[in-house]
Amino acid sequence: MSQGEMESTGKDLKGPEELVIPFIEGDGIGPDLWRAAVKVFDAAVRKAYGGSRRVLWRELLAGEKAYRETGQWLPEETLTALKEHGVGIKGPLTTPVGGGLRSLNVAIRQELDLYACIRPVKHIPGVPSPMRHPERVDIVVFRENTEDVYAGIEWRAQSPEALRVIDFLNSQMGQRIRPDAAIGVKVMSPYGSKRLVRRALQWALKHGRRSLTLVHKGNIMKFTEGGFRQWGYEVAREEFGDRVIFEEELIEGANPEGKLVIKDRIADAMFQQVLLRPEEYDVLAMPNLNGDYMSDALAAQVGGLGMAPGANIGDEVAVFEATHGTAPKYAGKDVANPTSLILSGAMMFEYLGWDEVATLTRAALQRTIREGIVTYDLARQMEGAREVRCSEFADALIERL
Ligand code: NAP
Repeated sequence: MSQGEMESTGKDLKGPEELVIPFIEGDGIGPDLWRAAVKVFDAAVRKAYGGSRRVLWRELLAGEKAYRETGQWLPEETLTALKEHGVGIKGPLTTPVGGGLRSLNVAIRQELDLYACIRPVKHIPGVPSPMRHPERVDIVVFRENTEDVYAGIEWRAQSPEALRVIDFLNSQMGQRIRPDAAIGVKVMSPYGSKRLVRRALQWALKHGRRSLTLVHKGNIMKFTEGGFRQWGYEVAREEFGDRVIFEEELIEGANPEGKLVIKDRIADAMFQQVLLRPEEYDVLAMPNLNGDYMSDALAAQVGGLGMAPGANIGDEVAVFEATHGTAPKYAGKDVANPTSLILSGAMMFEYLGWDEVATLTRAALQRTIREGIVTYDLARQMEGAREVRCSEFADALIERL
């Protein structure tokens, strides 16, 4: 998915032969993964352009390293630099326990208004999977990233704020909420929902995908999740009407004009569908919380979080990231699987218009895994695999570029 295809920033990221890309190496296994991934990226750029293009990596601080060096978990300079460059790649960050920030990742998404979390889920042949036919999974999740109960508007049980909200709801809105309850607020707007669905539609059309499914829980949460469904259909009808067809308009399931089919599914049923009939689904557009669950559940279907790439994208900035956490017990041991970060980098190079780097990287990754050269997490599930360290996996991949 290239920058143009994503209809993103007007900044010219593509122009110069030398491109500055900021990175945050991350905590825990982050530094091991970054060291492995960056040598793959540099080798793939060299292979693709023979020295005529080069990346200058610029380190930005966040997480434990930032706290050690600056006393801040997320220095302002890091956010400014990401805005300035319009792009960045990051490893996992520890969520400071008891710190002022709810989560560094959520803070980055909110500060930079990265409203679309994009998670492509596709099986790489040879990767162990709990599915009988993992090759049938080829689904891209577009998850809304800024609203929903996930936005963190909530008050502790029996706090003055919770008591005040409960009093208002009970006395003026006819509710009967227990006074000792904690309170969270679920906010979903046409603005937030429509821009996410618009982005998913643009991407699906550009890539010739077959369908886009609005996934929601609107049967129960009628005005929030139901609103997401309604607003999603409105964007499709009003802005893409000549290029889409609605599921109920299909005659005996046939789509003669090859248009993008728009459908919707209730979230709980959708979790069954992706297990039982994944081949019927293509691009999913979802609100924040259910999108979070769905992204990880789908990743498990194709081999787990260590394999799943991701991006958080707004209109001005895009941040690509490994989708797993810091796996602290493996920190510094050079054993973790760098695939998620490497594939996130491939997405980033596509976004920047350096498609050749992405194509070469993915092909080499597939070759490496097909030959059974894998890190511990896959090796323990595969017969006859050659288990290698994180850095050795990167070297094997580079040899196969
Ligand atoms: P986690 O770090 O994702 O690790 C859980 C388990 O997943 C690991 O013990 C390991 O399983 C496996 N795993 C994860 N990444 C792997 C990789 N690259 N290679 C091989 N195996 C991998 O989840 P967590 O322990 O719940 O979270 C730890 C910290 O990360 C927390 O502070 C959390 O807040 C943070 N976090 C950050 C992000 C982010 O930055 N985007 C996302 C999620 C969590 P085995 O032990 O079975 O080998």
